[in-house]
Amino acid sequence: MQFTDRLLLENRAWAAGMQAADPEIFTRLHQGQAPGALWISCCDSRVPAEQICNASPGELFIHRNIANLVNEHDANVMSVIEYALNALEVEHIIVCGHRGCGGIQAAISGDEALNALPRVEAHVGQLRQLVAAHANELNRFTRLGDKVDHVVELNVAAQVERLAGLSLVRESWAARRAPTLHGWVYDLASGQIDDVVSRAATDADADGWRRAAS
Ligand SMILES: [Zn+2]
Repeated sequence: MQFTDRLLLENRAWAAGMQAADPEIFTRLHQGQAPGALWISCCDSRVPAEQICNASPGELFIHRNIANLVNEHDANVMSVIEYALNALEVEHIIVCGHRGCGGIQAAISGDEALNALPRVEAHVGQLRQLVAAHANELNRFTRLGDKVDHVVELNVAAQVERLAGLSLVRESWAARRAPTLHGWVYDLASGQIDDVVSRAATDADADGWRRAAS
């Protein structure tokens, strides 16, 4: 059986199982969504967002790109953030990186690894600044894998900071004091998520933006 035929067959089995467990589930989901969080993670096939959190359909609004980057010049991620905040009014944004991230490793390893992949280079090249800014502390690590895992954590924190600087997030903080921002790291080797950093709207955030906008 072809891989894709297996997927279609499994889909029928999944839908039947879901309906057997909860006969109204698809009727409910068909009527609309009210997810609790926007989830931004890497495309890596080993990081299936809903599965690793035991989340149900309808609970996570998901965007994935290589190395889970938030770039204000990327219309894809920015449109997802806009919709999540202004249409769905999510309470949380979770940036979930993962140890052993190939995108991070490519950015650390330099041009050679990415010569044949110009679009990936254009996307993850922005990480070079982050790597350069932490060059001294990265020199402490002798193994490339340890260096990668450290940059994975730095990257998640950097993306949370980027989110905190976006006008979309600032406007939402001023209007409703949400979302709370979270930086998490998933460990492929253990299946566990570490909570690395979080950032909630403060009074100063909300008032500062209101003043700037008036
Ligand atoms: Zn990755």
